[in-house]
Amino acid sequence: MIKIADPIIGSEEIAAVNQVLESGMLAQGPKVAELEESFAKYCGTQFAVAVNSGTAAIHAALHAAGIRDGDEVITTPYSFIATINPILMLGAKPVLVDIEPQSFNINPALVAKAITPKTKALLPVHLYGQPCDIDELIELAKPGNIKIIEDACQAIGAEYKGEKAGNLGDAACFSLYATKNIMSGEGGVVTTNNESFVTAMKQFRQHGMSAQYEYLDLGYNYRMTDLHAAIAVEQLKKADDFNAKRNENARLLNQGLSGIKGISLPATLDGRSHVYHQYTIRVHEDFPLTRDELAAKLKEQDIIAGIYYPKPLHFYKHIAALGYKEGDFPEAEKAAREVLSLPVHPKLTAEDITAIVEAIKGFANG
Ligand SMILES: *Cc1c(COP(=O)(O)O)cnc(C)c1O
Repeated sequence: MIKIADPIIGSEEIAAVNQVLESGMLAQGPKVAELEESFAKYCGTQFAVAVNSGTAAIHAALHAAGIRDGDEVITTPYSFIATINPILMLGAKPVLVDIEPQSFNINPALVAKAITPKTKALLPVHLYGQPCDIDELIELAKPGNIKIIEDACQAIGAEYKGEKAGNLGDAACFSLYATKNIMSGEGGVVTTNNESFVTAMKQFRQHGMSAQYEYLDLGYNYRMTDLHAAIAVEQLKKADDFNAKRNENARLLNQGLSGIKGISLPATLDGRSHVYHQYTIRVHEDFPLTRDELAAKLKEQDIIAGIYYPKPLHFYKHIAALGYKEGDFPEAEKAAREVLSLPVHPKLTAEDITAIVEAIKGFANG
C-alpha cells in the first residue's frame, strides 16, 4: 500500500529515546531545552518555546501576542480546525477572509478589507508547506501595530525570499504531530525574536507560573516531555533531507502528471520554496472522474490520497455560529470540492511514484 504519510524513524530516534528513558527524567527537562535551541537556530530566530502540540503552540503564541476577549484575529477559512480554535479559546473573534486560488493561502487584498480597529493579529497559514504572501501582510499589519503569527505547522524549512518560515512574523507555530514533515508523535514549537513572548509562553505552558507556586495568570499544562523532544531533536537534523526528498517526489509527480486534461498541478509562487507537506492537485469537471471517484479508484489500487480539506472551516457549526454561511468564501469552498493530495512523503520509492502517475493517466484515458 502507498500511504499518504509514513514517518521515518531511524536508529538515532530510538537511541535518543532510550537515553532519556535510562536517565529516569522523562518530563520537560534538558532535551526540551536542546530542542528549543536547535529549533531556533534552524529557523534563524533568537528563541523557540516547545509545547505539547501545534494547537497549544498557536494558543500560546496568540496569548503572548496579547489576544484577549473581544479582539479580532484575521485568518483563513481553508486550513485545519486547529488554526481557528485557539482564537476562540482566548475569547477572541476569528475574522475569516478567502484564499488566493493558486497557492491556497490567505489573500492579502481581502485581508486589507477585513482590518478594523479591533484587529490585533493576523494568523496566516503556510498551507501544504508553501509560505503565504508575508510581505503584503507585513505592510498591512504595520500601521495598526497588528501582530503576525504564522501557522507554520505544515512548513518547517520552507523559505520566503531566503528567510525561513518561523522567522517571517512576530511568532510562528509548528506541529510535530506524527504525519508532519518532522515529528515526535505529538508536539509543538513556537519560534520568535521577542523575548517578552518567550516569558509569556513559558508561563502559559506551565499553569501561568513565574516561580515555584507563583501563579501570575491562568495557564495550562502544555509542557513537552523529554521523550518527545528527544525524537524531535533527531528529526530536526534530518529535516532538510526529508524536504529535499519531498521536493524530488513533487518534481517527478509534476513531470508525470503534466498535461492531463482536467487536472491542475500545485504551483510554487515566486520568491518562495515549498516543502510539500502535501502535494495537492485539483480535479476539475472535465476530468472523466469526480474528485471523490478518483480517490476511491486510487484506493482500489492501494494508493491512498487525502482530501485536505473536505470542508472549509465556516461549514462547521461552531464557526458558522459566528455569522458565516455557504457562499461567503467561494475560493475556499471551490478548493474543498476540487483538491486531492497525492502521496509525496520521503519514504516513497521511484516505483511508487510511477504507480501513482500511471494510475491517474489510466483514469484520464477512460
Ligand atoms: C497540524 C496542524 C495544526 C495543529 O497541530 P497539532 O500538533 O495537531 O495540534 C495546526 N495548523 C495546521 C495548519 C496544521 O496542519
